[in-house]
Amino acid sequence: MFRGIPVDVASIYEGESIHADKAYADLGRELGVELLRVASDTEVADGQVYVTGKNIQDIKKGDNLPFGIYIKVTGERLEEDIEGVFERRIHELMNYIQGFMHNGSRDSMWCRISDESAEAGLNLEHIGRALIELFKKEYRVIEKMEVSFYTEKEKVEELLKTTREVFARRDEKIKSIRDEDVDVFYGCLLCQSHAPNHVCIISPSRTSNCGSISWLEAKAAVKIDPNGLIFEVPKGKTIEEFKGEFSGVDEAIKEKSSGSTEKVYLHSMFDHPHTSCGCAEAISFFIPEVNGFGIVDSAFKGNTPFGMDFSALIKHIGGGIPTPGFLGISYAYMKSDKFLQGDGGWKKVVWMPSALKKRFSNYIAEDIIDKIATEKEVENLDSLKSFLLNKKHPAIKEDNSEKPDVSRPVSIPVSRGKVKVVFDGINFRVGELIITSTDDD
Ligand code: SF4
Repeated sequence: MFRGIPVDVASIYEGESIHADKAYADLGRELGVELLRVASDTEVADGQVYVTGKNIQDIKKGDNLPFGIYIKVTGERLEEDIEGVFERRIHELMNYIQGFMHNGSRDSMWCRISDESAEAGLNLEHIGRALIELFKKEYRVIEKMEVSFYTEKEKVEELLKTTREVFARRDEKIKSIRDEDVDVFYGCLLCQSHAPNHVCIISPSRTSNCGSISWLEAKAAVKIDPNGLIFEVPKGKTIEEFKGEFSGVDEAIKEKSSGSTEKVYLHSMFDHPHTSCGCAEAISFFIPEVNGFGIVDSAFKGNTPFGMDFSALIKHIGGGIPTPGFLGISYAYMKSDKFLQGDGGWKKVVWMPSALKKRFSNYIAEDIIDKIATEKEVENLDSLKSFLLNKKHPAIKEDNSEKPDVSRPVSIPVSRGKVKVVFDGINFRVGELIITSTDDD
């Protein structure tokens, strides 16, 4: 099937990890983006792979080049809403290529090629051809497909600009629909290959963890493949409207996670949080010391105020098991008017990377934005606490004298060991912490 490609291409390589000591080069580590568009028939040169900039044979060991992937597909039954779903498959299908690793998604993806595959002569044309064959085999509705790769910085930046405009339009499209307007949500099991029992529930107000699949895109996916890994979830009875608990969702989660998760709140990271996988674009994390939560995204390479970076956090929480106090989220969900409303929403956000804060400045209420700290103002929990007190952040100002109705202590990982948090639902209270361990676990 993959004639002319010097390495093997098969699903068995999907979980292959290429460690730094076996890496020939990285692509997109600092600047990486991918975009898939449905185009008109005349705009797509079927089977073509274009490379602008250096190819793998032109780079030296240890290089890290900017990387852009732009795919165009066409087909009579394809509609624009399917773009995000196909785009999400780039990750999985590229990982079928032996000695090639694709990480992340959308505007925070990067790839790595192994010494062995570079030596075997694997190049970007081979990767593009493999992708085209894999996509067409998987989706018969794709009639034509072309792939463009960019490794020149200016070209990748250009693609990034276009991509962000496309993403903004996609996010805008879903904004007018809310959870209460529909009777059917969707589920996605695509990530169970690396996060067993992870089930994404996609509602109009909650785009998936990876950000690639909104409710509209899931709907389009079910239309072209009713028996696929994206499926309908009848909403059922509303059990807890504010936190987002629905009987149909609970039934689906229980069944599709093989009973490991019995129920979820769609809009809260406590008690029954949604499961997370390694594809989350960002993570929200409770900081008990200041009674609020931080958000860190994969683009930020520094540490959060409690000393863990995004990569360390996602390793803790991305395995498909709910972790109260921690939640994988998408950028699109951060634009939702139900964004973590069960936990106080934006009013409880106390820390974000400065670039992320800037990016979301239009979505954060004016009276809170200057009270959210970033890596520029604080570097640890002590300085965060001082900053919040100084700014009179509402999260830390709350009256903590009243004892909460303690129902369910939860354990959350921190930089060293675990902290047991006693939590009363919406209100987080300083002083209700029990440190059970500091070094082990
Ligand atoms: S993060 Fe969720 S929606 Fe996205 S591919 Fe994985 S399971 Fe599907």
